[in-house]
Amino acid sequence: MNKTFVIIGSSAGGIAAARALARLAPKSSIVMISREKELPYNKCFIADYIAKDEQEQLFMTNNRALPENVQLLLGLSVVAINDQQQHVSLDNGQIINYDALLVATGARPQKMPLLHSDNQRHENLFYYHNLWHANLLKAFIAQNKPKRAIVIGGSISAVEAADALHQQGVAVTIVNRGKQLLSRYCSSQAITLLYERMEQLGVQVIHNAQISDFTHKDNHITRVTLDNGQQIETDLVMCAIGVNANSELLQSTNVELSDDLVNVNNHLQTTVPTIFAAGDVILVHDRVSGYKKRSCTWPDAMHQGLIAAHNMAGKEKVYEGAVFLVDSHFFGFDFVACGIRDKKIGIITKKGDNWLHEFQCNNDNQLLFFVMLGNIENLPQIKRSYLTRAQFDVA
Ligand SMILES: Cc1cc2nc3c(=O)[nH]c(=O)nc-3n(C[C@H](O)[C@H](O)[C@H](O)COP(=O)(O)OP(=O)(O)OC[C@H]3O[C@@H](n4cnc5c(N)ncnc54)[C@H](O)[C@@H]3O)c2cc1C
Repeated sequence: MNKTFVIIGSSAGGIAAARALARLAPKSSIVMISREKELPYNKCFIADYIAKDEQEQLFMTNNRALPENVQLLLGLSVVAINDQQQHVSLDNGQIINYDALLVATGARPQKMPLLHSDNQRHENLFYYHNLWHANLLKAFIAQNKPKRAIVIGGSISAVEAADALHQQGVAVTIVNRGKQLLSRYCSSQAITLLYERMEQLGVQVIHNAQISDFTHKDNHITRVTLDNGQQIETDLVMCAIGVNANSELLQSTNVELSDDLVNVNNHLQTTVPTIFAAGDVILVHDRVSGYKKRSCTWPDAMHQGLIAAHNMAGKEKVYEGAVFLVDSHFFGFDFVACGIRDKKIGIITKKGDNWLHEFQCNNDNQLLFFVMLGNIENLPQIKRSYLTRAQFDVA
């Protein structure tokens, strides 16, 4: 009997699964549903799209048409999953039955609590997450020519967003709750290199500060007040304070969650055998350290979509875990961090002109964590050493 596969989400995990299912089960019918109206795009290029209007790589996924047996439903939300009767309900009233379901609903940005309690719409408040957010920001910049922006956050997203706004000619101040940017990855020595570059470019960073109040005028935030009393005038606020997984749909099913993340086995199957999950909505383990955390990279989501598709199609494939590797580019630096940084383990540093590498190894000289800022030429060799757990020679 020809099967029906339903995929919720048409981003990294969803697209990879749809393509694989079309190949593995060519007679099946595959329905992929996304609440976004845009054709699939790659989120990794949103910063370039904001900064330089580069669209070629952003829409790279469109260059290859979807296989014929994939039906893509855009601009529609799945509002319920019935795991007993195996169907999903859409916000237009449509009900779609499935033999196997893939939940690839990803994550959404955390809202700034102070700003959403009063339901007021702020025309100059933005989030750094999807194409819709990016288009709102670009339209605002084109129309209002903002001169000053405040970016709230201390993670890679906050730094990328700050760089994109800086490239648009906006004077940026980052307000960071912690004492250092990128503290999950960089030591104070490594981050100094980035701070020096940001200072040269006129980008300010305020640490150990939280926003205690926003001043509004005509639906615009005009000033923020920090908990130390400092007040900063602004034309635009960008909030990049973290994400939550889009897992609410599963709360009324028998699928087990760990907080907001979906628990999956090594076939990427949830606790309901006909429901699979992939991408930023799942809890994954690092294939080297075994450490568990939220999946958060494009290549991992694609890989998981591919593995899930095999198992949905009855072709067993085991998921061996994620590679905790993040890469980015900001303020002229290439940036890669891999593994889990352990603040108790000593750091070995290598540095040169405008670049710095940091490594952490265990007693057997196996690489546990590395970060590369500014020069990533040796990344393939270092990554191989990390993945194969070979003896690592820093020289
Ligand atoms: C700005 C930005 C930059 C990034 N840069 C990088 C990078 O440089 N390198 C890297 O490796 N990773 C990067 N990432 C992370 C990477 O984009 C994610 O890991 C990846 O997109 C996860 O894919 P996903 O399939 O899980 O879901 P997502 O990309 O989160 O997409 C989920 C999809 O599901 C849809 N959806 C959710 N709920 C429903 C519903 N109820 N009904 C219908 N549709 C629904 C959403 O509309 C969305 O289209 C970046 C992320 C962001 C936000």
